[in-house]
Amino acid sequence: MKKQLAILGSTGSIGTQTLEVVAEYPDLFEVYTLTANNNVDLLIEQAKHFNPDSVVIANEAHYNKLKEALKDFPIKIYAGENAISEIVEAAPIDIVVTAMVGYSGLKPTIRAIEAHKTIALANKETLVVAGDLIKRLALEYRTPIIPVDSEHSAIFQCEGDNPIEKIILTASGGPFRKFTAEQMAHVTKSDALKHPKWHMGHKITIDSATLMNKGFEMIEAKWLFDVSPQNIEIAVHPQSVVHSMVQFKDGSVKAQLGTQDMRLPIRYALSYPARLESSAPKLTLEQYSELTFEYPDFERFPLLRYAFDAVATGGNMPCIMNAANEIAVAGFLNDTIAYPDIARVVSETMEHIEFIESPEYEDYVHTNKLARNYATELVKSYQ
Ligand code: MN
Repeated sequence: MKKQLAILGSTGSIGTQTLEVVAEYPDLFEVYTLTANNNVDLLIEQAKHFNPDSVVIANEAHYNKLKEALKDFPIKIYAGENAISEIVEAAPIDIVVTAMVGYSGLKPTIRAIEAHKTIALANKETLVVAGDLIKRLALEYRTPIIPVDSEHSAIFQCEGDNPIEKIILTASGGPFRKFTAEQMAHVTKSDALKHPKWHMGHKITIDSATLMNKGFEMIEAKWLFDVSPQNIEIAVHPQSVVHSMVQFKDGSVKAQLGTQDMRLPIRYALSYPARLESSAPKLTLEQYSELTFEYPDFERFPLLRYAFDAVATGGNMPCIMNAANEIAVAGFLNDTIAYPDIARVVSETMEHIEFIESPEYEDYVHTNKLARNYATELVKSYQ
């Protein structure tokens, strides 16, 4: 029996690489549903190639184009964000790959958990925004969440049966690792988009430059592996060969190593607990005569500090932080604000939005809206 996949965010970086993995193992995996936010042209191309049962485009403006292009195919066509949340419940789906960007991943992930679909989690913002809710639901519905993020896949592959005492979460350090604070005040969008090790979508590439991404991953790790943030250490490791490490109470440390190829963690998430034969280039350590590790600079990378603050505060604070960051990064990407303003928008929004200690789903929805509105006003005021 082939595993039936729903790939949410199929036109993004993780989505397209997931489809490459599917194409690599046609006897193991089949695409049941593809969803995209805006990139209707690529979605059409993917649908023609993989012939899924259904496709969804979140942006309803593209519905007619999609329907027209696929009229000779037996593919069901839907539009709108709600359709994405509904489609994940379809009976034949085994695994839901959540590869969309940002807060939009929350609702479909909840629905997929409630429908007992294995989650291959690539959308880290879901756990940043509402980690406690997601964790509660996953336990209640006994739905497995398998990490796709390379660091979390590494931890998942290392963890074994003993409790983890400490996680060492590695970070490439991004393009500004060696920049002074003065240099960082003047960096441009194209500087920030030049990631030294990974080719990814724009939003996560900016988050990697600010180290917000590592802050998100720390929060993601806390929820996935039940380890307190005090026991999650960030290690800047520019070679990006060690994808993360775990330490146990006897002092033993396990690490997972590999090339910088997201198809490895994707493959493992889809095939877990089995490992698949792969013809992809394998790691050759002669290429890396030196593996180095250093602590990150929390002064030059304030967003990493805010992530530790937000998770220590708890409640809806990480949700506020995430919403502000989404707006700030969008503002930076469309040249509305400067690089240092990203951290300002996030910190000011975190100070302003009302704190809720034990939020439920509706509180997260409300917080996200309030924080986005507030951050949007800040972005305008910085112009
Ligand atoms: Mn990662």
